[in-house]
Amino acid sequence: MIELRSVEKRYGSVMALRGLDLTVPEGSVFGLIGPNGAGKTTAMLILSSLLARDGGSVQVAGADPQRDPKTVRRHLGYMPDFFGFYESLNAYEYLEFFAAVQGVPPARRRGVVLDLLALVDLSHKADADVNTLSRGMKQRLSLARALIHDPQLLVLDEPASGLDPRARVQLRELIAELHRMGKTILISSHILSELEGICTHMGVIDEGVVKAQGDMEAIRGAFTGSRRVRVRLADGDVDRALDLLGAHPEVAEASVERQRLDFVLAGDDDTSAGLLSELVGAGLTVYEWRVEAAGLEELFLQLTQEEEAE
Ligand code: ATP
Repeated sequence: MIELRSVEKRYGSVMALRGLDLTVPEGSVFGLIGPNGAGKTTAMLILSSLLARDGGSVQVAGADPQRDPKTVRRHLGYMPDFFGFYESLNAYEYLEFFAAVQGVPPARRRGVVLDLLALVDLSHKADADVNTLSRGMKQRLSLARALIHDPQLLVLDEPASGLDPRARVQLRELIAELHRMGKTILISSHILSELEGICTHMGVIDEGVVKAQGDMEAIRGAFTGSRRVRVRLADGDVDRALDLLGAHPEVAEASVERQRLDFVLAGDDDTSAGLLSELVGAGLTVYEWRVEAAGLEELFLQLTQEEEAE
C-alpha cells in the first residue's frame, strides 16, 4: 500500500531523511516508532503528498504522491499531530465543512457526518463548540475528519500524544475498529507502549533511516538472541547455581536476590534447556525457570542507541 525507497529530505543544512525505506502492506496497522526528531512527521508528510522529497521514490496506493497527488489524496486520510483552531464551529459543522471541502455531495453530507460522529463516539457532542472539547475528543474528531472521504489508507501522526489513559484506550479501540473495517493504518509514536498491542507491523526509525521493520513476529524474532532468564531455587542453592552458570559465556549480567537469580542469555531454547539440565544434574532444586524474550522496549533502545555507541 505504501512503498518508500531511499527517500531523502533536507531542511537547509538538516538532513531529515537519509535514504529511508518503508513498506506498509495492505490491511496492516503499521506502527512507525522513533524518538523525537527521527523523521516520522517528515516521512508521513511526503507520502501523504503534503511535502516534496529531495530524492528516492514513493508509491502510495499505486501512485507517486509528488506526480499524482490527487490519486493519493483520494485514497489517503491524514491526521496531523496538531489540531487547528476553528472558533465558533461546533463538531457537526466542523465535519460538515470538511465534507464540503472533500467534495462529498450536499445530499450525502448530513448522513456522512452523523455516521462519523457515531463512529468516533461524539454524537452527544455534535452541538458542542470544537474549542470546548477535551483533547481526547479533539483527537477523535480529527480522526473523523481524516475519514470523511472514506479513504482506504489512514496516516495518523502521533494520535495518542497528550491523551490520558482512558482516552488512549478509546483511541486504540477506534483504531482496532478501523482495522476490522479493512483500512490500512500507518500510525506514529515516540512511545513504544502506545503502539504495542495494536500493530500488526512495526518500523523503527532513527535519524532519518528505518533501522528495522516487518511484522511483529519478525521484529521480535530478530531479537530473540538476547533473553532474560529468571530462576528461583531452593535456599542455599543460589550461590552454586551462580558459579555453574557464570562459567558459560552465554550467560551475562547475572544478579542474585535471595532465592532468585536473574541473567541475560545469549542463546536459543536449546542453550536454555542445556543450562537448566546442568543445574538439575548437579543436584540443585530449581523451582522456576522463566525465559522472557527481550521486550520491545529493549529492542527499541538497542536499535536507536546503536549509532550513539558507534
Ligand atoms: P517528533 O516526534 O518530535 O515530531 P519526528 O520524528 O516527527 O519528530 P520530524 O519532525 O520529521 O521528526 O523532524 C526530523 C528532523 O527534521 C528534525 O531534526 C527536525 O528538527 C527537522 N525539521 C523538521 N521540520 C523542519 C523544518 N520545517 N525546518 C527545518 N528543520 C525541520
